[in-house]
Amino acid sequence: MRLEGKVALVTGGNRGIGEAIVRLFAKEGASVVFAARRAVLGEQMEQSLIDEGYPAHFFAADVRDEESVEGLVRNTVATYGKIDIVVNCAGIAPASTVESMDVETWDNLMATNVRSMFLVCKHAIPELRKTRGCIINFGSTFAMVGAAGSAGYALTKAAAVNFSKSLALELAGDGIRVNALCPGGTDTEFLRDWLASSGDAKAAEQWLLDRHPLGRLGTPEDQAKAALFLASDDASFVTGHALLVDGGYTAQ
Ligand code: NDP
Repeated sequence: MRLEGKVALVTGGNRGIGEAIVRLFAKEGASVVFAARRAVLGEQMEQSLIDEGYPAHFFAADVRDEESVEGLVRNTVATYGKIDIVVNCAGIAPASTVESMDVETWDNLMATNVRSMFLVCKHAIPELRKTRGCIINFGSTFAMVGAAGSAGYALTKAAAVNFSKSLALELAGDGIRVNALCPGGTDTEFLRDWLASSGDAKAAEQWLLDRHPLGRLGTPEDQAKAALFLASDDASFVTGHALLVDGGYTAQ
């Protein structure tokens, strides 16, 4: 029960890695608020957590929108009284070469992956100051290496890493830790969609597997365990760090 008594706010929590984080944090004793746009998916998950006896609340929110994010933070505090842990997991990865990406897709990518992180942090910081809490922002291996066909996405993930370092420095005096979690290829619908967008999902998966020296893709649970470490007191001296959970992808 490494998060007993803690309140966690997880964006992008209704599926994939976010869902694994919500479930693990709840098992470890946290009260968890999670958010995403698709309410049906979120409400089903909320019910399944409640059925298992875990305190959890889903709020439909669009992390690109400031009013929506303000409401999410307000609702979290109204529900559980405080916030100890923020996980910015929501993200999208439209695959396209720079040349063929249209400006609307670019702007939406920046808003979903970068503006959201700024908005959630901005509105949660006053609450985290009261609890001396922590923030985990989602990067990627693509924060560290180039990714042909995903330059915009890779840029947003590099932004998450550097934003985390700068924010860690801004908030260290308040006892708030800020870290980035950088997954390698992790088997979720997000990854399956990204592989399919190459036109040959099987070949793209093999290409990706070949880049993971441990010889497999990650699981959402691999990432959730790393998030648990960063959120827990075990990481009480860890801030401004980018934790790679990538099966060795970036060691080469
Ligand atoms: P999923 O697509 O499974 O989950 C993404 C989540 O983000 C969903 O819950 C989605 O819910 C939510 N989301 C997207 N847009 C918004 C929005 N505007 N407002 C609120 N919520 C939103 O992806 P993964 O679990 O695979 O990825 C999670 C994170 O990990 C992402 O940041 C991704 O970049 C990162 N990552 C993933 C890797 C992988 O291989 N899977 C590798 C490296 C990094 P909804 O659509 O209902 O809003």
